[in-house]
Amino acid sequence: MTATEVDGVAVIADEPREAPFRDKAGNVVYQPQTRVLTLANGTIVYGCLHCSYTSANPNSVRPHLARHNSRRKTNGHGPDSSLNLPLAELMDRLDKLAAVTEDRDAWKARALNAERRLKQLRTALGVRE
Ligand SMILES: [Zn+2]
Repeated sequence: MTATEVDGVAVIADEPREAPFRDKAGNVVYQPQTRVLTLANGTIVYGCLHCSYTSANPNSVRPHLARHNSRRKTNGHGPDSSLNLPLAELMDRLDKLAAVTEDRDAWKARALNAERRLKQLRTALGVRE
């Protein structure tokens, strides 16, 4: 629940924050999860709709709201974070994995070749291991 007092000073007004931008039609946009709290001593602070978090900086409320969102995601109903990757990024990762695998196979073939040639050289030079 939104704070009803800050450092012992009562909150006397609780309003949704007006966003610093307007919608396409030029109307005021509200950020209802960010509360503009007027205290009894006239101070204005910014609060969270969901808990008693308050800050003098309106821009610190939105990052704070992520805490409430992530809690919702981990309760078993939200999608797993690794499944939230856009398809394009998943395809990109698969491509990289395939490239690394190909690269590894190519190096393995080269190593086996080098080993064989070394063995031939040793035989030709009569070097015993
Ligand atoms: Zn909060």
